[in-house]
Amino acid sequence: MTIQSRKFDTLIIGAGGGGLRAALQLARADAKVAVVSKVFPTRSHTVAAQGGVNAALANVSPDNWHFHMFDTVKGSDYLGDQDAIEYMCRAAPKVVYELEHFGVPFSRRDDGNIYQRAFGGQSQDYGGDQASRTCAAADRTGHAILHSLYQQNIRARTHFFDEYFALDLIKDEDGYILGALTLDIESGEPLLIEAKTTLIATGGAGQLFRTCTNALINTGDGMAMALRAGVPLQDMEFFQFHPTGIAGKGMLITEGVRGEGGYLVNADGERFMERYAPRAKDLASRDIVSRAISVEIREGRGCGPNKDFVYLKVDHIGADVIKKRLPGIRDLAMTFAHVDPVDSPIPVYPTAHYTMGGIPTNRSGQVVVPEMEGPEEPVPGLYAAGECACVSVHGANRLGGNSLLDILVFGRAAANHIIGHLQEHRYHRQMDKTAIEKALARLKRWEKTGSGESVPELRTELRKVMEEHCGVFREQAVLSTGLEKVKLLKERLQGARLKDQSKIFNTARIEALELENLIDIGIATVASALARTESRGAHSRVDYTERDDASWLKHSLYFHDGRLDYKPVRLKPVTVDPFPLKPRVY
Ligand SMILES: Cc1cc2nc3c(=O)[nH]c(=O)nc-3n(C[C@H](O)[C@H](O)[C@H](O)COP(=O)(O)OP(=O)(O)OC[C@H]3O[C@@H](n4cnc5c(N)ncnc54)[C@H](O)[C@@H]3O)c2cc1C
Repeated sequence: MTIQSRKFDTLIIGAGGGGLRAALQLARADAKVAVVSKVFPTRSHTVAAQGGVNAALANVSPDNWHFHMFDTVKGSDYLGDQDAIEYMCRAAPKVVYELEHFGVPFSRRDDGNIYQRAFGGQSQDYGGDQASRTCAAADRTGHAILHSLYQQNIRARTHFFDEYFALDLIKDEDGYILGALTLDIESGEPLLIEAKTTLIATGGAGQLFRTCTNALINTGDGMAMALRAGVPLQDMEFFQFHPTGIAGKGMLITEGVRGEGGYLVNADGERFMERYAPRAKDLASRDIVSRAISVEIREGRGCGPNKDFVYLKVDHIGADVIKKRLPGIRDLAMTFAHVDPVDSPIPVYPTAHYTMGGIPTNRSGQVVVPEMEGPEEPVPGLYAAGECACVSVHGANRLGGNSLLDILVFGRAAANHIIGHLQEHRYHRQMDKTAIEKALARLKRWEKTGSGESVPELRTELRKVMEEHCGVFREQAVLSTGLEKVKLLKERLQGARLKDQSKIFNTARIEALELENLIDIGIATVASALARTESRGAHSRVDYTERDDASWLKHSLYFHDGRLDYKPVRLKPVTVDPFPLKPRVY
């Protein structure tokens, strides 16, 4: 079969904040850049980010990058790599000022400086008073950032392939990544994009869980592509459950609401976070607040007729603040919970939110794999940045506002490294025909409608299994059964049929391809969670309730063949002393 092909210096898979920040850096350096996105770029999930991006600008409270670094290391439950965290926190003010120059309309203080709100886990002076570090454009920060980056990319002449679905990486026999095979969703035709370097920026995998804050497109495609190309996934057991999703629906109510003064109450009207985190209260780290809500409900202090949610009280902060700083949240609450936060509390429950694990990279965005009994080696030509990557700055628990920062800092860093690489590697390598055939085979499987169970039914079942077997609290027996169920779903998918029997729609084929990806990510997540017999950050085992640094201060690496390996946490920052391990209290 002859397929169309195009050649670029760099292929970027994903047009969210991570992909677009990288693309802009490259296009401005005159590299020939292709950005592939399965949805129109400004529909990428970054658009949904609400609360803001962290940077120690000290506009509202005394602050510096070292306080930010301390909070991030502590927030990660010491699993974050301290060299990467130092790099990110130091770079933060610079990337935020760059955004300002790209045209992001940040909210302002009366003195004209960028407005910063308080978010969970932020402190002054290494664990002291609450800090306000999150730079916000009302509660639509992601929208503002994504649109500004897109416009700048148009100006810089980045080449966009809108509504193209990346199927698989093309890897030659020497292990070089030569680009990717994609599918034009409109025509159903494959397109090969050859590139000297490929950056995966495909975002997270929140669609693994039934109740989540993520859009339908967040199916972990890039992570699954990397797995199939022989790259292990790192720290997949750490999945963040955000404490305040709209109860029963899952849409996010930003932590910024608590940053503006909102707080949680149980059925007795008690502000219960005072018991769980006496100092930080409602602005404790997300894993802690999510567990507290689950415990309140489990112990019978939930609200409503079924006692299955708690309330987020906001009315006391005043209609003016709500309308000015939280207009999007008010809309969401009125549309999906049918309450106006100006006068009524919002019913909330923890909801799956963020993939802390992902494709292992170094600080320059190069994808790295452990060599047999040797140091990590970069996969030639392959980079990753954003939520699909694990650099690792979030460790076992991400702090709010640090993800937008991560995608900007490491999208930019990866692009800078690629620019250097392109100067040394001026020509494309020979294309590998066998690798293309392999990628095409994946597509061919879904050329027939098939028979058996339907793909959407299996997707629904996967999300239910993940929620029931790998949620906020975990234990051996429940995880083991969950793992078996997800593995069985993988087998069942082989004999499944596409949604519509009368005609094969390309969108139905995409659903099937996405489900293949999701199932692989599900298996990686449950298998890694089953193996980690401790509680750390978002991974909370009822049968191993303590953090166990002696045995488990290490990153997990899950391989496609089911093997698990581990690598040490990088505890040494680049220029400063390490933050020593401590019990994590707020
Ligand atoms: C509701 C919500 C609110 C949030 N609020 C905040 C916040 O206030 N502050 C903060 O720091 N973080 C926040 N986050 C987290 C943060 O927004 C995300 O982690 C971040 O935006 C992810 O960016 P990204 O560039 O990695 O991926 P995304 O923005 O998810 O983009 C992924 C891109 O990959 C493309 N793609 C995926 N698969 C394929 C494929 N197979 N082929 C082609 N293209 C593909 C998609 O089309 C898309 O363009 C929030 C998250 C959610 C869900």
